[in-house]
Amino acid sequence: MEKTFAIIKPDAVERNLIGKILERIESNGFKIAAMKKAQLTPAIAKGFYYVHKERPFFGSLTESMCSGPVVLLVLEKENAIPAWRELMGATNPEDAAAGTIRKDFAVNIEKNSTHGSDSAENAAFEMSYFFSETEILS
Ligand code: ATP
Ligand code: MG
Repeated sequence: MEKTFAIIKPDAVERNLIGKILERIESNGFKIAAMKKAQLTPAIAKGFYYVHKERPFFGSLTESMCSGPVVLLVLEKENAIPAWRELMGATNPEDAAAGTIRKDFAVNIEKNSTHGSDSAENAAFEMSYFFSETEILS
């Protein structure tokens, strides 16, 4: 079983999409190993997205991630990292495949409703950034 880290972003929480997104997660065979609602601060968002700190959208992205509460999740499934990214769809909803979360719910490339880890190394960093080991229940 592999674990990945996911966020339901402020744009989706604000539009009452938590339930619809969790439904897709569970109906696609993921177990929710950890979950909490949180309000990110600019410092926390910048630390989380530090790999993007040189990108032109870094300021806008981190501001958007602090615009309202998020839901932080650890998801478990076989090959959870690629499986969750496939279920989310492409970063830009215009490029996302039919039936993916971003195709169906994202507002635009920045307000794209969910986050998913892109490697085992980043998943480990991201899970530990928000959850202690005792909060992750396999
Ligand atoms: P995430 O890491 O959130 O799961 P991703 O891996 O599909 O998304 P990244 O390239 O890691 O995409 O970008 C991180 C986030 O930055 C994106 O989810 C999106 O919110 C934002 N972003 C990416 N590219 C752009 C862009 N060109 N303009 C504005 N925001 C962007
Ligand atoms: Mg990414």
